Amino acid sequence: PDAARGSAARTYALDRAHVFHSWSAQAEISPMVVTAAEGSHVVDGEGNRLLDFSSQLVNTNIGHQHPDVVAAIADQAHRLATIAPQYANDQRSEAARLIAERTPGALDRIFFTNGGADANEHAVRMARLTTGRPKVLTRYRSYHGGTDTAINLTGDPRRWANDGAAAGVVHFFGPYLYRSRFHATTEAEECERALEHLEQVVQLEGPQTIAAVLLEAIPGTAGIMVPPPGYLAGVRELCDRYGILLVVDEVMTGFGRTGAWFVSADEGVVPDLLTFAKGVNSGYVPLGGVAVGPRVDEHFAHRPYPGGLTYSGHPLACAAAVATLEVMERDDVNGHARRLGEQVIGPELRALAERHPTVGEVRGRGVFWAVELVTDKGSRTPVAPTGGSSSVMAGAVQQAKALGLLPFTNSNRIHVVPPCTVSEAEAREGLAVLDKVLDRVDELVAE
Ligand code: PLP
Repeated sequence: PDAARGSAARTYALDRAHVFHSWSAQAEISPMVVTAAEGSHVVDGEGNRLLDFSSQLVNTNIGHQHPDVVAAIADQAHRLATIAPQYANDQRSEAARLIAERTPGALDRIFFTNGGADANEHAVRMARLTTGRPKVLTRYRSYHGGTDTAINLTGDPRRWANDGAAAGVVHFFGPYLYRSRFHATTEAEECERALEHLEQVVQLEGPQTIAAVLLEAIPGTAGIMVPPPGYLAGVRELCDRYGILLVVDEVMTGFGRTGAWFVSADEGVVPDLLTFAKGVNSGYVPLGGVAVGPRVDEHFAHRPYPGGLTYSGHPLACAAAVATLEVMERDDVNGHARRLGEQVIGPELRALAERHPTVGEVRGRGVFWAVELVTDKGSRTPVAPTGGSSSVMAGAVQQAKALGLLPFTNSNRIHVVPPCTVSEAEAREGLAVLDKVLDRVDELVAE
């Protein structure tokens, strides 16, 4: 244990000296050292075992160190560790088939990227070139990635510092009944009015200038706002009416997170382009992509697509995807995630919402849930500003870690996003810790 602690101390010191971290003021962070992980748990530099209710950045859908996936990566490394994208490769071909078979409709051709942001970058480029139109409509309260176009697509405060780096993005409001922009009181009203609003934005921007509407199937980091029944289908219909392409970002929602392969497929909606990453191989090797439907595919049948990446369809990443999808199919991981949501996480979170005065709303599906924290249920005042933190949220995180739970938090929310393979016992254990964390939040708000 002493040697392990010594080595963790070295890791930490070198990190602080040389690693430039994402989204951070470099001198103000103290990253937790992680020395090991397995299944639903990670081990920190002090040897503490924490239950991972974050799935890291909501990507380890089959948990940490799944032996079948680790073995597939090792086998592939021995066989062929890398090969350029212009060649055909067995793992890339198989991964493309397995993904295409799971996407809705005829999204049958896969352009592989390194992650979610570049998947959205390429989806936007494809939509603009196919339609010959410049603009893209995206939602406020969304996250689409950290590169120039993707961060401009994003509708949260992380965009502000990068505003203007990509032209032609217009934001609109999506449905969010708990904080309705449309003064709606029912899901049906929220749905109808959100669609009316979107149509008005389309008309005022000029339909002939709009290449695509791009949106998350369920906004993830922005708050897991499950859209009312009919919303996605309504957006599809509106896009068809105006000749606009529909791009659905399933980077966070895809591959089991909601108990289905894709939310769009679940809802019977077929986008023109679908972007994915994260759960496709649980992030064991970086991989994302765009599933391309007929309209875009035909456009590039006899004219070259002006875009590519050195590591597009990297064999290690694709081998990891093939193994991941086989494990998920064999073990019915989606069914497990769906049942956990319906029978354990949903009911338990609703009970917590009853019991704790600071829980304004809980919402989600599968292993994809948000707990929205407010100073009181009447005013619905968030305990932290959008995109910011507060002493209450910092206190919640501190309490969770002290009790052995690694949480995912954003703004005034705690997200309950364990691996899709989390056992029922682990889920209940984590929810019991969350109950204690919410006791602490109640105290901090009352102070
Ligand atoms: N789109 C969504 C919905 C996401 O949640 C994310 C990442 O959190 C991204 C895109 C960006 O993916 P990446 O970080 O792999 O570039």
